[in-house]
Order: sequence, then structure tokens, then C-alpha cells
Amino acid sequence: MSARLLIFSSVITVLGFSAVCGSVMLDMRRNAQELSRQIQENLASTLSADINRNIELYDLSLRSVVTSLALPQLAEVDDTIRRLILFDHAATAQHFGAIQVFDAQGNLTIDSESRIAEKVNRSDQPFFSVHRDHPVHDLYISNPMQHRGAYSIVLSRRVSGPNGEFLGVVAGSIRFSYFQELFSRLRLAPDDVIAVIARDGTLIMRTPFNAELLGTNVMANIGMDKLLGQRRGWFSGHGKADNIGRIYVWADSSRPLVVLVGKSWSDVFMMWRQEAIRIGLILLGLAIIVAGFTVFFIREIDRRAAAERRLEELATTDALTGLTNRRKFDIAIDREWRRASRLAAPIALMIIDADHFKAFNDGYGHQAGDQVLVGIALCIGDSVQRAGDCAARFGGEEFAVLLPGLKAAAAQAVAETIRQKVEAWSDGQAGVTVSIGVASMTPDPKQHWSVLFEAADKALYAAKDLGRNRCVVAASRGDLTLVA
Ligand code: GH3
Ligand code: MG
Ligand code: MG
Repeated sequence: MSARLLIFSSVITVLGFSAVCGSVMLDMRRNAQELSRQIQENLASTLSADINRNIELYDLSLRSVVTSLALPQLAEVDDTIRRLILFDHAATAQHFGAIQVFDAQGNLTIDSESRIAEKVNRSDQPFFSVHRDHPVHDLYISNPMQHRGAYSIVLSRRVSGPNGEFLGVVAGSIRFSYFQELFSRLRLAPDDVIAVIARDGTLIMRTPFNAELLGTNVMANIGMDKLLGQRRGWFSGHGKADNIGRIYVWADSSRPLVVLVGKSWSDVFMMWRQEAIRIGLILLGLAIIVAGFTVFFIREIDRRAAAERRLEELATTDALTGLTNRRKFDIAIDREWRRASRLAAPIALMIIDADHFKAFNDGYGHQAGDQVLVGIALCIGDSVQRAGDCAARFGGEEFAVLLPGLKAAAAQAVAETIRQKVEAWSDGQAGVTVSIGVASMTPDPKQHWSVLFEAADKALYAAKDLGRNRCVVAASRGDLTLVA
């Protein structure tokens, strides 16, 4: 019972600790994800602000050129003044390319960086044709294009006449060196990804740089539809190029270019994983210690229980014959008497006494007497084997046998078997015999078992009186029945 309780409490302790640690770890995992999401969102927000501000700035220059082109006086001034008027407010920065003006046929007419415009026609380019074919088109941002070995994106605006007629296009470019410098300032993990995406889903720029993916439409990737539907958010997906599982976060999808910051899930949970392994190992150690203690204590409990059983056995067994002693017999007869009383069943008792044992002792010595007592006990034990039967040494050369459920006749038969066995066995041992008094009754609830005892004792005296080496049964009416 106490061993089971110990195992139960150990298991509960380990499970309890595991549950607490498990829930703390889950919390920490959620926090790690939330922290990473916040950091990524802030980064996306900052990058988006920088990129879109530069586009805005460059667009302002394009607009200023478009506005100036509408001035009627522009045709009257000479080339130097015209260039001053057109490009005075033009943003000039390291990463901004030249601003060029094309006429309605796509011919380059004015170039901010050279006095004599190159003779080129760009009517086949989307940055030109989109304005020619769609008069309402606002600022156009092109797919990444390669020009003299370097990537850039072209920004263009329509030049319209007083009646809305198409007069040409003003275009400029932002070199990729801008993005490269912007991203080089960041300390990114090897699996981190930053993507700049146009609102139609075209990948404009990506770090790590991957020329194959530039200009492709990543709209089909999961989460992209969400990206344009919500101003800020995140989704979980696998990289198209490397198939690494990442959390992708965007911060502001209302701008022309959307910045998506991706971090691999394994990086997001790296610290958490280390902590989880550490706590898991501690928990495992704890479980092993608890299991060790449990096994130790269970063994100790078993050892003590065995020692107690042994002590109990010693305390209730007769040392010479190995039969039950008087103390245990009293407990047994008390229990069986009450049980028989409850069940209204018969219960039999026999008292066995060695005949002329004093004389035997005197003649052969005390040790030989002891051997005879052991022999008698063996004869008794041999004949009494049912569960519930109890054979005891009462002290001296007297024995008692309790036979629950037996009526007088059946008990008498057992007694007779014992008597004959002793007689047969002791034939070669100076002929020790026993006298047996037998009594059987169905107990009345008001009676004490001493009634049964007295009846058996009386029968034993009768057996002695009648000449010994015989069984006498106490009759139910108090008379005695003689047997053998
Ligand atoms: P009966 O019962 O036939 O009337 O005669 P008895 O001689 O057996 O009766 P009594 O009660 O006078 O003697 C009992 C003797 O049993 C006394 C003692 O020497 C012997 N005895 C009692 N306990 C032991 C014991 O443990 N070992 C041995 N060897 N003898 C014992
Ligand atoms: Mg005797
Ligand atoms: Mg006696």
C-alpha cells in the first residue's frame, strides 16, 4: 500500500514538474516568436520608410520636370537655361541615375547628364508604353533592369498636353547600389531574407541577392494575398529558392514598394531551443533522481515488510515443532468461532495429549522427548491440510487442531487418522501414543468459544480415563462418545 502510494506520489511529482515546465516553455516559445515578429516588423518598417522616401524624393524631381516642361517659355530659352529650369530641383544622389525626357515617339530629347542627348528610341520599353497606352497611369516603377552590367529600376511619369494629349515621358532610374548599401548596414543571419516587392507582386530586390528571382512574380507564394490585404502582418512560408521555413513580416503595404523581412523559424527559436534542452535535461535528471529514490524506498519498504513478517512468524510459531503457537491459535479460534456463528456453520476442535509422556522423558531423556513431540507435530500436520484448519502446539506435550466446517463425525475421522499415524510412527520409538478429545458445535451467537474448548478438554479427560490411545467425541448433549 505504502509502496503504491510512493510510486503514485513520485509519478505525480514528476508529471507536475513536467506540466509546469511544459507550460513555461510554451510561453517562452510564444514570447520568442512575438519578439522576433516585433523586431522584424520594426526593421521592415524602417527599411520601407527609407526606400519609399527615396522613391518619393525622386518622383518629386520627375514631377518638377513634368511641370516645367509645360511652361510655354521653355521653347524660347536656350539649351543651358532650359536644362537649368528643368533639372534645377532634380534630386541628385549617388544612387540616382540621369533624368531623361522622351517625346511622344519615344525618342530621347533631353538628358540631365549630357548636353547632347543620345539618339535612342525607347518606345518599346514598358516605362514608356505604359503611359502612352494608359493615360491615367501615375508613377510607374519598372521591373529590375540591367544597364551596363548594373541593375536598376526605372521610374517614369507621363507628360501631357493642355488637352490631355500624350506628349512623352520623363524617366529616371534608381541603381541597385542603393539597396545594396542599405542592406549592407544590417547585421543579418545567414538564413535571413529581405525582399522588396512591387504592389503587383514583382520581386524588385532581394538579399541575399539572387538574379534569377528578380523580376519574377512572387504573388503566388502563400501569404502574398494577405500582404496586400492588411497594412501590417506576418505569415509562415517556405523560401522559393532554398525551401527554408521562415516567418515573413511586413510593416506597411500601402506604399509603392513593400518590404518583407523573413527569418528562419530555426533562428527564431534558437535561444528558446537551447533553453528547452537545458530545462528538459534538468527535468530528466530530476525524474531519474526521483525514480532512484522511489526504487530505494520501495526496496526499503519491502525489506522492512519482510522483516516484520519474519518477526510475526517467529512470534506466532512454536520453535520446536513449527506449528502455530498458543497466541496465534487463540486469535484463530476467536475469528473462526465468530465466522461459524455468522454462517451458522459447525466448527470442530480436537485437543491432543501425549500419553505418559513424563515417563517417556524420564526413561529416554528430554531430548528424545523433544524428537517425539516433533514427530507428533508431523503426524498432525500431515492430516490437517485444508485452508482454514489450524494446528497448534499448546505447550508441553499438548496440541490442538481447529477444523472449521466439520461436524463431530468428520472431526472424529480426522482425529482417528492422527491417532493411528502417531501409533504407527512411534511403533519403533518406544510406543508413544496420544489421546484425543474431539468436540464440534454450531455456535450460538451468545456463546464464547471456551464452551467448545471445555467440551473438547472434557472429552480428552474421558479418553485418558478410558485408558488412553483413543479418541473421544463430546456429544452435543454433553455426553461423551467413545471411539476406539
Ligand atoms: P498423561 O498425560 O498420560 O496423563 O501422562 P503424562 O506424563 O503425559 O502427564 P503429565 O502432564 O504429568 O506430564 C507431562 C510431561 O511432559 C512433563 C514433562 O516432562 C513433559 N514435557 C512437557 N513439555 C515438554 C517438552 O517441551 N519437552 C519434553 N521432552 N518433555 C516435555
Ligand atoms: Mg500427557
Ligand atoms: Mg499433559
